[in-house]
Amino acid sequence: IDFRLAQFVTSAPDITHLPEDIGMEIAFAGRSNAGKSSALNTLTDHRGLAHISKRPGRTQLINVFRLTDDKRLIDLPGYGFAKVPLEMKLAWQEKLAQYLEERRCLKGLVVLMDIRHPLKDLDFNMIRWGVAAQMPVLVLLTKADKLKQAEKQKTLRTVKARLAEELDGEIVVQLFSSLKGTGREPALNVLNGWFRR
Ligand code: GDP
Repeated sequence: IDFRLAQFVTSAPDITHLPEDIGMEIAFAGRSNAGKSSALNTLTDHRGLAHISKRPGRTQLINVFRLTDDKRLIDLPGYGFAKVPLEMKLAWQEKLAQYLEERRCLKGLVVLMDIRHPLKDLDFNMIRWGVAAQMPVLVLLTKADKLKQAEKQKTLRTVKARLAEELDGEIVVQLFSSLKGTGREPALNVLNGWFRR
């Protein structure tokens, strides 16, 4: 699949408003500010794509992008946002877990984490849910350009080791930088692999 075909389709207020559960989807999740929009723009080679959704008030929406008639990318709302009331956070977490569990067309989960703040509890939960839902997970350590080579490699090893130790699932961890384009091709290879299953 050529990810440059991506086009914005709709913003859904919750998972019940997503398109019909047919075809194939890959979902993107991460803390707010993890670099998710930038990564989506980089992967699709489409500068303004995901930032369309960043207008105030729309950040809590699920954004749907189509690649082909039956393949979509799903941009889940950023989590860990301090200003959201606890009840809303819990309600959303429950819906998210349900979505990962029940969405039949969902073929894989991408979790983005700022390489300088990896594996916060909510990140770990997301990855755990993906694994529990028997889905392959791609973890992208974003903004890799912010660290020196040795630090990058060390964080990569630490994250891989902790996930391997605590979770038994199909998890790939990669460095990523939207600024430099680092990790774009390997990430696209993984995602295309999922779409071919
Ligand atoms: P989102 O909230 O997860 O969608 O995050 P954004 O994509 O909006 O990025 C949050 C901030 O991190 C912005 O100021 C971006 O310019 C910055 N950022 C995102 N990706 C990178 C990257 O690869 N390198 C660097 N240095 N900054 C990045």
